[in-house]
Amino acid sequence: MHHHFDYIIVGGGSAGCILAARLSEDPNVNVLLLEAGGTEIPETVENPATWYMTWGGDIDWNYQTVPQPGLDGRQTFEPRGKIIGGSSCLNLMMYIRGSQEDYDNWAYNGAPGWGYDDMLPFFQRVENQDDDSSPWAGHQGPFAVNTAAANPNPTSAAFIDACLELGYPWTDDVNGPQMEGVSWHHINVKNGKRDSLATSYLFPVLKRPNLTLESQAHAMNLIFDGKRCVGVKYSQNFEEKEVRCNREVIVAAGAMGSPQLLMLSGVGNPEHLKEHGIHVHHELPGVGENFHNHVLTGVTYECGPQVPPPTQNMSEAVMYTTSFPGWVGPDLQIAFVHASFDIIIGQAHPNSISIVPGLTRPMSRGWVRLNSSDPFDKPLINPNYLAVKADLDRLIRAIEIAREIFGSEAMSDWVTQELLPGPDKKTYEQLAAYVKSKADSYHHQCGSCKMGLDDMAVVDPELRVHGVDGLRVIDASIMPTVTSGNIHAAVLAIAEKGAHLIKTANS
Ligand SMILES: Cc1cc2nc3c(=O)[nH]c(=O)nc-3n(C[C@H](O)[C@H](O)[C@H](O)COP(=O)(O)OP(=O)(O)OC[C@H]3O[C@@H](n4cnc5c(N)ncnc54)[C@H](O)[C@@H]3O)c2cc1C
Repeated sequence: MHHHFDYIIVGGGSAGCILAARLSEDPNVNVLLLEAGGTEIPETVENPATWYMTWGGDIDWNYQTVPQPGLDGRQTFEPRGKIIGGSSCLNLMMYIRGSQEDYDNWAYNGAPGWGYDDMLPFFQRVENQDDDSSPWAGHQGPFAVNTAAANPNPTSAAFIDACLELGYPWTDDVNGPQMEGVSWHHINVKNGKRDSLATSYLFPVLKRPNLTLESQAHAMNLIFDGKRCVGVKYSQNFEEKEVRCNREVIVAAGAMGSPQLLMLSGVGNPEHLKEHGIHVHHELPGVGENFHNHVLTGVTYECGPQVPPPTQNMSEAVMYTTSFPGWVGPDLQIAFVHASFDIIIGQAHPNSISIVPGLTRPMSRGWVRLNSSDPFDKPLINPNYLAVKADLDRLIRAIEIAREIFGSEAMSDWVTQELLPGPDKKTYEQLAAYVKSKADSYHHQCGSCKMGLDDMAVVDPELRVHGVDGLRVIDASIMPTVTSGNIHAAVLAIAEKGAHLIKTANS
């Protein structure tokens, strides 16, 4: 292999696969993609209904949070893909861009060029959408985006009817001009199989002579020459290796991996780096801060008639709504799942269905910090779930909405009794205790290398690390605030825009 590349991308996940594919379109540049995981895609990843079997094994980083005071001190499990394709191999394949306000707020708050109108062409560049429901959809992109309406479970259809019966609006397309309302999910399934970023973007171009993929290659730190990043040190097969680049290193190791790698390389809060004996290369106090995530809870009902087994990803229908009057844009995702929310309850009552409400505009903020200076040690992860009381209040409101849906005429043919939270949980205090005991990660971690122009920003609106040359971060960590739905679509558009910015800067 060459030891000098034009671009080195660290992390072959959702963003990294797009960056590798787009940058290597120019035959005159050499691109190296370093991925800590392997390249074999297991059957459990391919089958859209077995996503839960991909968690907790050797294609998962198996992260866990520090104890969460807002969750009664519990630690939540935070799976992340350690495989080519990254977390796109472990996720639930729901595809939702988020609301226009999400992006306009980014631009308003110090990320000019990232408003919704700026982002629209990059979403379209990603998408290969099968139906024409959205006037905004992309149809020529590499990534499959299909409506779950094609082959739904009858309970998903009942959920939609129930929401309409209660007076919530219908929307033709949650990825179109009107996100709010009830509709079918878009999902990333192609010919009955999960479409990951490995299968859609990377594998079809791996034969390019100017693109090199090194798998099982764990980046340990970045190499600097003064304030310029010039390469990466990594470990592969128990051997330490170094690789250099002429143009740029692009860190795409995800919302936990990217801040960790920067800190291991001496870029971060000087006090924190010194605690771990790391030489401070560049002071940047925002690295690892502003970390946040969506948080969810669950409402499960037992069914009378047998619920047919899943044929897709188990979550086909969704409603976006606001918790209380006055919120602009949806702050709740009311997702329907034809399975139990809780595995123990599910074993005792296998014929059950759930509404899994997610808080999509959390106000709580946490951090990612180093546990030690060992690059193989997991970082400390603190999403600080439900630290702000308004987050708890809105999840409790979401439980009430879910109960109204299950209590509707449209659901009456299916449901027989409430299993979770349970009919005895009635007061605010009882529901608060339930939420704290059961709320969990929605797996949309972001914000830990936020984009912006203020002192706590890590990257500028061109995604260049502030104060350092030859280094960008391009992945979920750069989001200043999380978007109002599952964030994968946003990560992919960020990567497409990031690749465009790099190409334009170097043309
Ligand atoms: C369980 C789960 C369910 C989800 N469900 C949905 C959903 O249904 N819809 C949705 O929109 N979003 C969903 N998401 C979120 C979405 O999948 C992620 O936000 C997105 O994939 C993140 O992309 P990324 O490129 O930032 O990080 P990742 O895709 O995680 O990529 C990071 C890559 O970097 C590699 N890496 C990390 N550290 C190093 C290192 N030191 N050296 C080399 N390589 C390294 C990792 O192995 C990984 O491949 C889910 C996520 C998870 C985990």
